[in-house]
Amino acid sequence: MTTALDEVLDRLDTAARQARQPQPRLLAVSKFQPATAIAQLAALGQRAFGENYVQEAAGKRAELTRLDLEWHLIGHLQTNKAREAAMLFDWVQTVDRPRIVDALGRHRPNDLPPLQVLIQVNVDDEASKHGCAPEDVEALAARIHGHERLVLRGLMAIPTPHPDPEQRRPAFARMHGLFDALRGHHPAVDTLSMGMSDDCAVAISEGATMVRIGTALFGARPPRPADRA
Ligand SMILES: *Cc1c(COP(=O)(O)O)cnc(C)c1O
Repeated sequence: MTTALDEVLDRLDTAARQARQPQPRLLAVSKFQPATAIAQLAALGQRAFGENYVQEAAGKRAELTRLDLEWHLIGHLQTNKAREAAMLFDWVQTVDRPRIVDALGRHRPNDLPPLQVLIQVNVDDEASKHGCAPEDVEALAARIHGHERLVLRGLMAIPTPHPDPEQRRPAFARMHGLFDALRGHHPAVDTLSMGMSDDCAVAISEGATMVRIGTALFGARPPRPADRA
C-alpha cells in the first residue's frame, strides 16, 4: 500500500532530481495532530517532527517518550517560553532576536546535546513581526556562536503565502543567497529550511535542504485546540 509518506518522499525525490539538488530532509509538521498520528508516521520510518507550540509539543513528547524522535520548534517563540523550549526541543528553527538566543543558550540543560538552531529570516513580508531582517543575520549568527550550548545550523523562512507557489520563488532564491553567504563564514551551517506542502518543489529547486510538510502527510489539520500555548 502506498502511504502519504511514500507519496511525499516521491515528490521530494522528483523535485530534487529535476533541480539536480540532493534530496532534502523531510520535517513532518504535526501541529494540532494527535500523538497517535505521530506514532503512525514514526512506525513508517519518519523521525523528525515539527511543532508550533511549546505546550502542545510538551504533551505529545510526554506521550511518545518510548520513540526516538527529533523534535523541531517551528512556531514563533515568546521569551517567557524559551526556557521550556530549551529543555524540550532538539532544534529551534525560529530564532530571530538576541534575547531569544541568550535565553536558549542560558537554559539549554548540560545533560542534553547542544541545541541545534536556525535563524528565521523575514525575507519578504514587511507586515510580519517574526523573523529577523536579512541584514541582521550575521550579527545573530555571531551571538549564537557566543553560546556553548547552541549550534548554528542555518536559516529558515516562511515567505508570504500566495496561491501561486511560483510567486514565492524570488523569496526562496533570496534565502539561498543569504544561506550561501552565511555558509562562507560558518562551516557547520548545512540547513536551509523552506517549502511546505504547496510550494516544496519550488523551494527545492531554489536549494532547500529541509522542507516542512504538514497537510500533504496528515491531511487537513483538525481545528486549533482551545488550550494551545
Ligand atoms: C503549518 C506549518 C507548515 C506546514 O504547512 P502545510 O501547508 O500543512 O504543509 C510548515 N511550516 C510552518 C512554519 C508551519 O507553521
